[in-house]
Amino acid sequence: MTSSPYETVDCVVIGAGVVGLAVARALALAGREVIVVEAAEGIGTETSSRNSEVIHAGIYYPKGSLMARTCVAGRRLLYAYCTEHGVPHQNCGKLIVATNQAESEKLAEIKGRAEANGVEGMRLLGAAEAIALEPNLQCTAALLSPSTGIIDSHSYMLALQGDAEACGAMYAFHSPVEAARVANAGIDLEVGGAEPMKLRCRLVINSAGLHAPTLAKKIIGLPSDRVPQAYYAKGNYFTLTGRSPFSRLIYPVPVPGGLGVHITVDMGGQAKFGPDVEWIDGIDYTVDPHRADKFYAAVRRYWPALKDGALQPGYAGIRPKTVPQGAPAQDFVVQGPADHGVPGLINLFGIESPGLTASLALADQVRDIACT
Ligand SMILES: Cc1cc2nc3c(=O)[nH]c(=O)nc-3n(C[C@H](O)[C@H](O)[C@H](O)COP(=O)(O)OP(=O)(O)OC[C@H]3O[C@@H](n4cnc5c(N)ncnc54)[C@H](O)[C@@H]3O)c2cc1C
Repeated sequence: MTSSPYETVDCVVIGAGVVGLAVARALALAGREVIVVEAAEGIGTETSSRNSEVIHAGIYYPKGSLMARTCVAGRRLLYAYCTEHGVPHQNCGKLIVATNQAESEKLAEIKGRAEANGVEGMRLLGAAEAIALEPNLQCTAALLSPSTGIIDSHSYMLALQGDAEACGAMYAFHSPVEAARVANAGIDLEVGGAEPMKLRCRLVINSAGLHAPTLAKKIIGLPSDRVPQAYYAKGNYFTLTGRSPFSRLIYPVPVPGGLGVHITVDMGGQAKFGPDVEWIDGIDYTVDPHRADKFYAAVRRYWPALKDGALQPGYAGIRPKTVPQGAPAQDFVVQGPADHGVPGLINLFGIESPGLTASLALADQVRDIACT
């Protein structure tokens, strides 16, 4: 009898972004044997290091959607986690600002949606009240979200990695999953890279971010009609020379496909504007300096003092979309055996914003599917 070339393992998480790391931690804490396989050289090198690092309150998402539920629950878990683990963060709050009458009227609608989602403390402010809080602001009205904040996302990811390692989880970097097949007792994976592996897994979590649909399409035995088409919506950032003129995060009223060109700061005090929305066909992180023109116009609606030449091309992130431009907004997709019929496989699709905020709640959901 020939022995199998496959090494048998319990759980494999594909992808060491913030969501994969949170899932690995939750499974390891639940007593599962976990290996994280990551194509890149380290944790969080893709979307998880190309975002706004905002702890979102849970304002905009449709009531009852997975985004709404995991954002609100995940935000509460995340603040507690950061405090317990010494992860740098700041509950600085945010203002959504209206710059004309039509936008002012939208603020009440946004407040209603936030409250339906369980977001605490939302307050409508008149122009004078908002400007008293943020003297550099120009607006006709604003909506204060006190539970919004910022986080050092790399410190957070390191803490997640450490927690999982403390429970025995292992990480394999430079380890791209190249092929997969549904087998009798789980999923067989072929992992390439410097030290190729063949793994027979009882449970596989496809948390490959932008690549999750491409990877799922490679899984022989997974019905292809369960795998969404991948679409990409790039978000470009421009950084501000000098410190932020605001102490809170400032957002315009949202635009289709994104939250509008907003100003955030990171834990190092660097102010940045963005992300905008640029639909693209393939993964490309170049920031076109000419896009700055639109940024100046968008930002000056609420911060007229922005000086010519103050914005520098920063970086870009790409939203993993499951629907094309113009289609109704997507929700997160956490797809387990009940959805696709394959035991031992959970796919995560379309984990765009607020995936960082929602990561701990998404991880709990995956653990619950996996461990029941
Ligand atoms: C512009 C932008 C701004 C955002 N701002 C915020 C924000 O302020 N707040 C918030 O809460 N959320 C925000 N998000 C969302 C958040 O960044 C993402 O939801 C989160 O980072 C997704 O994490 P992930 O682990 O799913 O994906 P990723 O971080 O992309 O990780 C996927 C990993 O899988 C690996 N991988 C891929 N294919 C394979 C393979 N075949 N084998 C092995 N490994 C593989 C990749 O190398 C990668 O490391 C933003 C997103 C974008 C695009």
